[in-house]
Amino acid sequence: MTTQQTFVIIGASLAGAKAAESLRAEGFDGRVVLIGEEAVRPYERPPLSKAYLRGEVGFEKAAVHPEAFYQEHEIELLTSTTATSIDPASKQIQLDPGGRFTYDQLLLATGATPRHVTIPGAQLDGIHYLRSLSSCDALREALTGAARVVVVGAGWIGSEVAASARQLGKEVALIEAAEVPLERVLGTEVGTMFLEVHAEHGVELHMGVGVEAFRGSKTVEEVVLADGSVVSGDLVVVGVGVSPRTELAEDAGLQLDNGVVVDEHLATSVPGIWAAGDVANAYHPVLDTRIRLEHWSAALNQGPVAAKNMLGRGVAYVKIPYFFSDQYDLGMEYNGFAANWDQVVYRGDRDQRELIVFWLDHRRVVAGMNVNVWDVGDQIAALVTAKRVVDPLQLADVCVDLSVIIDS
Ligand SMILES: Cc1cc2nc3c(=O)[nH]c(=O)nc-3n(C[C@H](O)[C@H](O)[C@H](O)COP(=O)(O)OP(=O)(O)OC[C@H]3O[C@@H](n4cnc5c(N)ncnc54)[C@H](O)[C@@H]3O)c2cc1C
Repeated sequence: MTTQQTFVIIGASLAGAKAAESLRAEGFDGRVVLIGEEAVRPYERPPLSKAYLRGEVGFEKAAVHPEAFYQEHEIELLTSTTATSIDPASKQIQLDPGGRFTYDQLLLATGATPRHVTIPGAQLDGIHYLRSLSSCDALREALTGAARVVVVGAGWIGSEVAASARQLGKEVALIEAAEVPLERVLGTEVGTMFLEVHAEHGVELHMGVGVEAFRGSKTVEEVVLADGSVVSGDLVVVGVGVSPRTELAEDAGLQLDNGVVVDEHLATSVPGIWAAGDVANAYHPVLDTRIRLEHWSAALNQGPVAAKNMLGRGVAYVKIPYFFSDQYDLGMEYNGFAANWDQVVYRGDRDQRELIVFWLDHRRVVAGMNVNVWDVGDQIAALVTAKRVVDPLQLADVCVDLSVIIDS
């Protein structure tokens, strides 16, 4: 395809970098511009709460592509550059520190940003949020000198940071408003498994209680809980969720609803503008619902789908939601989307933590999580896609191959 067109991608992280890669792989030979406000080339964030945070791997392990990739593929990567506005009428993007681009097609891959708490003491030193490489470097450095770490929020990021801090030999307290870690996604019953894992590794757990204030003279020293108790710590990490970065889209008049609203082709409400990754609230045709995913796999796979559609290919994004987590020696993967369920089925050994957990709604598998059991993700996704009524006893029986259940 020989063209003079310019395709611009705002957000130089996983979704954006994979989209740029796909444009070239699909044969687009116009201009590809990848704009990112961070100082470094695109990287993956999962290591930032795991091996990179613990100092076990360096940046190269997290980078999406080798340094030479962008030049070799004639992708104009602009780092330390922020897109400040988009004008859909003139198709112009303004940049800070100066300059502008006119685009023919535009992809928004601006991701998400951590929600900040606004309680008293929130401005004290020693309170960290984790999202970018620079925030991770700051936390990593602070961890070396810290004795006692308080993690606020036992979602995925908080749970992983708590695990990493324990693995670094720190005393750790984990505070969560829900009754167990990860309750929103996994439910109380399965979340209890993660509660037990952290307890076994010596984490001081404060569940079912909110945080009211941080106290300290200049640096944080104490966290005051809603029940009046006080948890001491010289370093606090807050992980209470993220918000999609929709500022640009909002100014440009795009339809928003918990992110940038896109259809199954990742097209926004404005022709020629697409969105992918954490910022996109996409209609999922298999699940028949709108969903904004905050997972590595969505960024990895939506970027290329958006790129194909910028080239007019008309591809729907149908991948079943997938995410993974590693905490201590527990590795898990989750396939599916369980907004509601009425039954939880265990297949394998819950005590040994080698099992698959299935969430069922009216005897249909809506999600499955494999814990320290591998190479079953595709089968779980196939069960979710099939939406067939299954026999819970068969599902629980390790002697019945999952492929038999999928085909029955
Ligand atoms: C510490 C951590 C650990 C994680 N671990 C896991 C895990 O184990 N498993 C899993 O499934 N997921 C995990 N995730 C989630 C996963 O990393 C995200 O879903 C993924 O990064 C989303 O990619 P993205 O490209 O959509 O957005 P982001 O990674 O958020 O990137 C968006 C980029 O756009 C840039 N940007 C935003 N606005 C502008 C602008 N106006 N101009 C220029 N640039 C802009 C931002 O600076 C950023 O670089 C983790 C996330 C974090 C933070």
